[in-house]
Amino acid sequence: MGCRPRDAEGDRRCMTDGNDAKRRLPTQLVGAGRRSEWTQGIVNVPVWRASTILYEDMAAMGAVGDDTHHRLYYGRRGTPTQWSLADALTQLEPGAAGTLLYPSGVAAVTMALLSVLAPGDELLMVDSTYGPTRAFCARQLKTFGITTRYYDPTIGAGIAELIGERTRAVFMESPGSLTFEVQDVPAIVAAAKARGLVTLLDNTWATPLFFPAMAHGIDLTILACTKYVVGHSDVMLGSVTAAPDRWENLRATTYGFGQCVSPDDAYLGARGLRTMDVRLARHHDNGLKVARWLAEQPEVTRVLHPALPDCLGHELWVRDFKGASGLFAFELDGGDETERAALIDALELFGIGYSWGGFESLAVPADPVRTAAKWEGAGLLVRLHVGLEDADDLIADLAGGLAAFRTARG
Ligand SMILES: *Cc1c(COP(=O)(O)O)cnc(C)c1O
Repeated sequence: MGCRPRDAEGDRRCMTDGNDAKRRLPTQLVGAGRRSEWTQGIVNVPVWRASTILYEDMAAMGAVGDDTHHRLYYGRRGTPTQWSLADALTQLEPGAAGTLLYPSGVAAVTMALLSVLAPGDELLMVDSTYGPTRAFCARQLKTFGITTRYYDPTIGAGIAELIGERTRAVFMESPGSLTFEVQDVPAIVAAAKARGLVTLLDNTWATPLFFPAMAHGIDLTILACTKYVVGHSDVMLGSVTAAPDRWENLRATTYGFGQCVSPDDAYLGARGLRTMDVRLARHHDNGLKVARWLAEQPEVTRVLHPALPDCLGHELWVRDFKGASGLFAFELDGGDETERAALIDALELFGIGYSWGGFESLAVPADPVRTAAKWEGAGLLVRLHVGLEDADDLIADLAGGLAAFRTARG
């Protein structure tokens, strides 16, 4: 970046080099969070490990005051390594006040919710939400006296009819987990804002590259960074990025619960972020190629991929999204769980395992759980994460899986 850290003029240039919101996102991904006072000229912000921070004298200790944001204070509040990744994620969402990091995506979801809700409140939760988010509502929120009301992911502006006296917030996840319904986020946000509700979005599937959440009026946008930010299946990490009027509450809640992440994990998150744009472009292309091929197969009734017309809310994806990631599902024509297992077991390039967003392809059975409305599925689902391998190799592998499915069915 041509940064000269010891020169005041150079310092300013360095801070704006990759840090310029007017530059396009791929450029920002390369430079974001690389402040010269944190890098000291090294390309990547190093791993600053700390619990104790030593102060020069008592006056210096007293001078830190209450605002510890981006100031060395105590390890729990982070060091430049964590601040750098958080800053970079904030920069990807113009209008945001700040980002905090969490030890997992689930921790990010739960802290975002707890920063908004109080006993007696009601939460409107999308019915296609991630399983552990549903579980948190059913257990922890319930014991805190917070009720959850599930709404159909296709509800759009109709959400207005569900808003009552006690409703405090609307949680969205678009597309939804396992079934990939794309939500009408602008319509839901408009209805929520009209009634003074807080809006939250789990944006893990799209990331800010494919769906800019703040630009769509979201107050708290959540990423399971474990997925595409880290991108290499080796770190657990989450983030919440807040609009200005939610930032103080998010910080107070997060600090109160003692949430923090290790600098090593933040370092790997930042390292993954630098290549997220090129990886997502490949996930987009590969995913679509595989999805289109699957849609032509006689064993497949539907492909639930937001960029294909069979997916609920496909037209909203066309309207609002800049791309599709590598995660989608397909529905089998007949077959039971054993026969579905035969399909997945026959795959050689698709690993069998939880999570997604790494460089490698994965396949798991997907069985949606619903509260608001029954999932209208004609057959069993298989969820794929299409990785960075050659798409034709993946297609050949899936052809082998479908052959095993046919054989198992007899
Ligand atoms: C994986 C996932 C999470 C949770 O992330 P972890 O880092 O695994 O805790 C949250 N939301 C969505 C949509 C996810 O897919």
